[in-house]
Amino acid sequence: MVLRCAWGTCNVDERYPERLENGVKLILFPKPKTNLEKCLRWIKACGRPHDQLNVQRINKHKAVCSKHFVGGNGPTVQFPDPILADGSVLRPTRPPLKRTYSENHTVRVIKKENSK
Ligand SMILES: [Zn+2]
Repeated sequence: MVLRCAWGTCNVDERYPERLENGVKLILFPKPKTNLEKCLRWIKACGRPHDQLNVQRINKHKAVCSKHFVGGNGPTVQFPDPILADGSVLRPTRPPLKRTYSENHTVRVIKKENSK
């Protein structure tokens, strides 16, 4: 078995190094056993039909070219997943924003006095 790119319509294959552009590397899929969530994101990014690409089909020969990542150089801290093959815009991952309220959201508790 050889490494093959699973992304979109890309057909890069280790057997045909001439298809590999300068410096492009094949990056293995995250393992479903240890990183299912990331693996599923990669599968989604590849945009292939489910019967062609799914968790059961992920093995140590499934890979994605480094050029399918933002910056064209493989996964980075900010963009650990491939670009979406359907052309959707990828947002950088960042720590969850702390919710800061610019307004004062103090809830006024109005005591209802049983006036009598
Ligand atoms: Zn590729």
